[in-house]
Amino acid sequence: MHTHIYWFRKDLRVHDQAAWRDAQDAGERWLMVYVHDPAQDAPTAWGFERMGQNRRRHLAQSLSDLNTQLQALGQTLVLLRGPVEATLLPLAQAVQAQTVVCEAVAAPEEQAQVQALRDAGLVVQTVWQSSLLDPDDLPFVVDEVPTVFTAFRQAVENARVPVRAPRPVPSALPPPPPDAGLWAHHHSADALLGLRDGGGTTVAAGETAALAQLREYLTPPWPTRYKQTRNALEGQHTSSRWSIGLASGALSPRRVWAELKAYEAQHGANDGTYWLWFELLWRDDFRFLHLRHGRRLYGASGLSSLPAPTHHPEAYWRWCEGTTGERIVDAGMRELAATGWISNRMRQIVASYLVHDLACDWRAGAAWFESQLIDHDVYSNQGNWLYVSGRGTDPRQGRRFNPQKQSQEHDPDGRYQARWLGD
Ligand code: FAD
Repeated sequence: MHTHIYWFRKDLRVHDQAAWRDAQDAGERWLMVYVHDPAQDAPTAWGFERMGQNRRRHLAQSLSDLNTQLQALGQTLVLLRGPVEATLLPLAQAVQAQTVVCEAVAAPEEQAQVQALRDAGLVVQTVWQSSLLDPDDLPFVVDEVPTVFTAFRQAVENARVPVRAPRPVPSALPPPPPDAGLWAHHHSADALLGLRDGGGTTVAAGETAALAQLREYLTPPWPTRYKQTRNALEGQHTSSRWSIGLASGALSPRRVWAELKAYEAQHGANDGTYWLWFELLWRDDFRFLHLRHGRRLYGASGLSSLPAPTHHPEAYWRWCEGTTGERIVDAGMRELAATGWISNRMRQIVASYLVHDLACDWRAGAAWFESQLIDHDVYSNQGNWLYVSGRGTDPRQGRRFNPQKQSQEHDPDGRYQARWLGD
């Protein structure tokens, strides 16, 4: 009997699991684990908890749902707490696991985790699966992914790069080793994540909720109207909210694509359905930029030759708390703190205000979003903050959103602001 460890990272689902196809054979056991690294509980360099309560609640629900899905396939999710190397290495020795299999995550901390396991002598097999397009299908090698989005999109569209079909949910998984549950450090995801009683929002999370949200949005007329509604600050179906499932991996982008194509086949394609593809390409672009540029995306200057940004801690705190005095910005920051989610346009407005009006460090903004957003995605967050600050891939080198103009355009009757400012 061979034992393998499957380490869940940003792929908290049982559908479209690229690694599962090859690894299954009759003589195998799989120990399926999730590791919560206490580094996530430490305060950031900017002085707040790295994973806020809304994100924690959301992750806990996603893990509980994953366990339910796994149990239906004869498996169980073992919850571990500790630095990845200090946790997985002794576990692999104890269960005599030959291999650790996991999703590849092309961000520096996540890559360092894998490297530490390999340096310690473990065989780690990483599988890239978080983009819509497979890097092997691109019309360029990832080291040459175009820097400007339009060039990337046009190259992909001209080459008619296919989207691979999502893999179905297997009918069963190899069994866990006997007494797998004994290895768990915690028996509930709430305990694993140290959730305080009543902490965090109750937005439905996990694969079950993400697939329900996928179907709910793919109902006429929402996708068909997407291009007209996508910049709205509020409204249940103005945008897809797929980001919430995509970020934890509860939802696979290829599954989204397959169901969007089915919607088009039944209800017709238009500029709304095209624009959902367009936005999903932005998501891919930030992933491929990570494959190309790696750590450079985390430096103060990003891809630019600009000097390190200025920073003003007091102004920054006012921004975090939603007390800058700029009503639309404060409303957005309060919605973010209360719910863990704001629309794309609100993200642009508040990010621009922090960087261009308050002259603060974009990395502090990115860190606050990381702590607050229930759809935090390291690639999209880093890429968008760099873009807004003019240190990424914006050919115009950064653009300021005028708060008054944005307010007039997107909240002309002030309803959104009144709702979040409580007046
Ligand atoms: P829709 O408008 O319905 O778009 C469909 C999908 O396309 C989204 O689910 C998302 O996967 C993708 N998408 C849309 N816009 C973008 C974009 N600008 N960049 C990358 N992908 C996009 N998105 C995250 O998922 N996680 C983040 O941490 C994140 N941080 C951001 C930080 C800033 C400063 C800004 C300006 C944007 C950020 N975004 C982030 C991108 C975008 O705001 C969200 O993906 C989008 O608002 C999610 O809502 P939706 O699912 O309803 O999107």
